[in-house]
Amino acid sequence: MIKINFFKKQLGFFPTPITELKRLSKKLGGPRIFIKRDDLTGLAFGGNKTRKLEYFIGDALSKNCDTVITGGAEQSNHCRQTAAACAVSGLECHLVLGGSEPEIPKGNFLLDKLLGAHIHWDGAFRKGEKIPQIAEELKLLGKKPYIVPYGGSNEIGVVGFVEAVNEVKTQLENINENISHIVFSSSSGGTHAGLVLGKYLYAQKFDLVGIEIDKEEFEGLSYSEHLLNLTNSSAEFLGINHTFTKKDFILRDEYLGQGYGVVGDLERRAIKLLAETEGIFVDPVYTGRTFGALVDLIEKGEFNLNDTVLFWHTGGSPSIFSYQEKIL
Ligand SMILES: *Cc1c(COP(=O)(O)O)cnc(C)c1O
Repeated sequence: MIKINFFKKQLGFFPTPITELKRLSKKLGGPRIFIKRDDLTGLAFGGNKTRKLEYFIGDALSKNCDTVITGGAEQSNHCRQTAAACAVSGLECHLVLGGSEPEIPKGNFLLDKLLGAHIHWDGAFRKGEKIPQIAEELKLLGKKPYIVPYGGSNEIGVVGFVEAVNEVKTQLENINENISHIVFSSSSGGTHAGLVLGKYLYAQKFDLVGIEIDKEEFEGLSYSEHLLNLTNSSAEFLGINHTFTKKDFILRDEYLGQGYGVVGDLERRAIKLLAETEGIFVDPVYTGRTFGALVDLIEKGEFNLNDTVLFWHTGGSPSIFSYQEKIL
C-alpha cells in the first residue's frame, strides 16, 4: 500500500459525511446524486485544504519550523484554512494575497485577520508569486519558515486526497452504494491529482470529472500540463510505479465563464438551487461553478438514469459573505 514516511497532524474531523440529495435528483429528473461534505471538515469553516494541511503542518512541525508562508487570492479558502491550521499548531502564519488591503475586511479575509495571520499584499499576482522573497526576509529575522505552495498543491498536499479516496471507498462499502462519477472542482490541481492517484491505488472504477475553474497559466504551464506533471511527480514521491497520461484525466473546460472568481448566471443559479432544494451552500468561485456544471451536464443528458453521481463539496462558503451583491 501507500508509503507515507512523514508526519500528519490531525486538524479536521474525518470522514466527512456523505448524504443523498433526493430532492435535487427529483427536481432535475436526473440520476441519483450524493454529496461529499468536505465543507464540513471542521477547520475554521472547513474545506478541501484541510486534508492537504494535515500533511503540510505535520511536515513543518517535524522539521521544527516556526513559521508557515502561503499565498492566494484575497478571498482564498486555502489561506484561511492555513491561518487556522497555524493558529491551532502554534505556528506564525504569513499570507501573500493578491490585490490590496480592502477598506472593509469581508469573508475569508476577515477570518484571516481574526486568525492572526500576517498579510503581504501582492497587487496583480494572486498565486503566491512573492512567497520565496518573503521566506528570505523571514530567515533574515531568524525565523524558520515552511513554504506551503499555492493551493497546497505539491506532492505532500496530494497525499491528503489520495487518502480521501480510501475514505470514500470505505464509506460507500458501509452504505452499500456504488458510484459511477465523482464531480469536483479542479483548480490548483492537488485535489484532482490525489483523486486520480487514489483511484489507481485503491482500484476504483468511477469516472473522475474535474471542472476547470481557472484557465490562467501558472509558472509557464497550461493547467492540464501542470496537472499531469503534479500527478506523475506525486506518484514517484509515493513510490507508485505507474506513469499517468492525459487519457487518465477528464477536465471540462467549458464552464470557465468570464474567468477566475467572476460570478455569472451559472454560479448564481447553482447557489440558489442547492440552497432552496437541499439547504446547502456552495461558494461563488469554486463549488458554485462546479455544481452549476453538474446541473448543466445532467440537463444535457450526459448521465444515464442508472448512474450515481457524487458531487464533492470542497468548501468555500465564507466567500459568500464577500460576494453578496454579485450573488443575489
Ligand atoms: C482550492 C479549492 C478548490 C480546488 O482544489 P485544488 O486542489 O486547488 O484544485 C475547490 N474548492 C474550493 C472551495 C477550494 O478552496
